[in-house]
Amino acid sequence: MSCSGNCGSCSSDCEDRKPSKEDFMVPANKYTKVKRMIGVVSGKGGVGKSMVTSLLSILMRRKGYETAILDADVTGPSIPKTFGLHGKVAANEEGIIPALSNTGIKIVSSNLLLDTEDTPVIWRGPVIANAVKQFWSEVLWGDIDYMFVDMPPGTGDVPLTVFQSLPLDGIIIVASPQELVAMIVAKAVNMANAMDIPVLGLIENYSYVQCGSCGEKIKVFGESHVDEAAEKFGLPVLARIPIDPSLAWTLDHEAAEDFNGDWLDGAAAELEKRYPAEKEA
Ligand code: ADP
Repeated sequence: MSCSGNCGSCSSDCEDRKPSKEDFMVPANKYTKVKRMIGVVSGKGGVGKSMVTSLLSILMRRKGYETAILDADVTGPSIPKTFGLHGKVAANEEGIIPALSNTGIKIVSSNLLLDTEDTPVIWRGPVIANAVKQFWSEVLWGDIDYMFVDMPPGTGDVPLTVFQSLPLDGIIIVASPQELVAMIVAKAVNMANAMDIPVLGLIENYSYVQCGSCGEKIKVFGESHVDEAAEKFGLPVLARIPIDPSLAWTLDHEAAEDFNGDWLDGAAAELEKRYPAEKEA
C-alpha cells in the first residue's frame, strides 16, 4: 500500500506511525556532555535501587571516571543523604550546578532543590516527570563518563516518561528474591524494549545474610526466583548483594563512599566492558 504521509486518514499501524524515542527526548544544554547513561530500575520502592545506584557510581568513580547521579526518584530521594549532602544546590543564569560528593561525584536530586529536605514532594505524575526532565536539561553537568539515573520505582507513568525523555544507553533491574520477580522483570524488560533500550542485567538485593561466626549464608526470603527470571529473558545476574549491617550503617551514616564490599565489582567491570566510556563514532 502506498503511503500518503497523512496518518489521520489511514488506519495502518505501520512503523512510520509510531512516535519514535527521539520524539520525546529532552535536549541537554550546551554544557552537558554525557558519554554513558545507565538507568537503575525496580518494581517497587525499598528493594535497594538507590543503594545500587550509589554503589555503582562510587565504584566507577574509584576507577577514575567522571561520574554523576541524576536522582529521578523525586518522591523518595535518598541519594544525597547517603553521601552526606545537604542544603540547596547553587545555580547561575545558565542553569543549576550539581552538588559534588567528597570523591567528586556530581549529584542532583529533588532533596537538593527544596527549601528543607523534610518537605514532602506531593506533586502529581506529570509534574514529577517534568522535574526529572529539568534535572537533565537545566543542570550544567559538564563532561561525564558515566551518569546513573535512580529511576522512580515501578513501571508506571512516571518511569515511562523518564525512559522516554532521557538518552539512556541501558538499564539495570534491581529485584529482591521475595518479589514477584518474573512479573516485575517482564514489565521492566517490556518497557525497555518498547523504548529500544537494552537491559544490561539483573541485580539481586537482600539475597542472604551471612552468619558472622560460621559464614553460613542464610536465605532469609527462601530460594530465589531471580535466576529463573534472568534465564527467561536471557539476562545475566550481575550481582547478588546480601543484607549487610555494615552496608546499612555506612548508608545511614552518610558515608556511602567509605563502603567496602566486592559484591558489585563484577557488575562495574561488565559496565565498563559493555559500555566503554569512549563511544564509538
Ligand atoms: P529503593 O531505592 O529501592 O527504594 P533503597 O536503596 O533506598 O531502596 O534501600 C532501602 C533501605 O534499605 C535503605 O535504608 C538502604 O540503606 C537499606 N538497604 C538496601 N540494601 C541493603 C542491603 N543489602 N543491606 C542492608 N541495608 C540495605
